Amino acid sequence: EKKIKRIDRAKDKSRVREKDSERLKVEENVFDVPTLKILYTLSNKGIIKAMGGAISTGKEANVFYAEGPDKELAVKIYRIASSTFKAMDAYIMKDPRFTNIRNNKRDIIFAWTRKEFQNLKRAKNAGVRVPEPVIAEKNILIMEFMGEKERPYPLLKNTYLEDDEAKLIFDTVVEYMRLLYKKANLVHADLSEYNILIDPKDLTPIFIDMGQSVTLEHPNSREFLYRDVQNILRFFSRYGIKDKPEELLKKIQAE
Ligand code: ATP
Ligand code: MN
Repeated sequence: EKKIKRIDRAKDKSRVREKDSERLKVEENVFDVPTLKILYTLSNKGIIKAMGGAISTGKEANVFYAEGPDKELAVKIYRIASSTFKAMDAYIMKDPRFTNIRNNKRDIIFAWTRKEFQNLKRAKNAGVRVPEPVIAEKNILIMEFMGEKERPYPLLKNTYLEDDEAKLIFDTVVEYMRLLYKKANLVHADLSEYNILIDPKDLTPIFIDMGQSVTLEHPNSREFLYRDVQNILRFFSRYGIKDKPEELLKKIQAE
């Protein structure tokens, strides 16, 4: 009881919060009783010290800032009540790791959350810079906060870059796609300037949002990889990068 209050108070003090009523509406949805109970448990276990405000309110999930015992955290909470999740089936049902989940919304969302945790872990182990996952519990994924002092790093989409800086980032993005493919056996499957953060200190890209990432065994993995490649080339073409999709695919799939 006390800890939930503390979570609520901390949330109100946070600098990253938005004051509009839209956000309150969203939060009523997010912090339903089961979700609050999980946050309470995580807080009792010392995994979360205090919840902060919303970093992002997306279609299927909201991301919150939180304080951990030793570092800043991002808490991604998938909505159960107000999400559609039609698209999820295509990604998860054919994934050999998740063939046994029951076909109801709650279970699909829980599996999706676990899948994102596992994907981030695999990516991290393969040498791709991603938020380090901490724990996945039902519809809540806790991970390393990619930012500093409550400020998330900017999305690639919102970064102003010189051509040579863009080229540097592009090369690392391609190398990460190769590492994902070759070492983690994964295709991101929603890669674009909207799911890459940029560390302003050294311009390293950080891949995020890996719930939909699939293993190479997935029947559509080639198609997803091709789409990722096209998204990346479309974005970087404005910086004079003119590689052909086929060349890039070859590079990613090279030994
Ligand atoms: P959307 O529907 O808006 O795309 P989403 O459900 O796809 O949201 P993400 O892309 O994982 O969720 O995260 C949404 C936003 O939250 C990101 O664009 C990023 O700004 C922020 N974010 C996500 N994870 C982190 C993190 N670990 N550290 C800092 N910021 C993060
Ligand atoms: Mn996203």
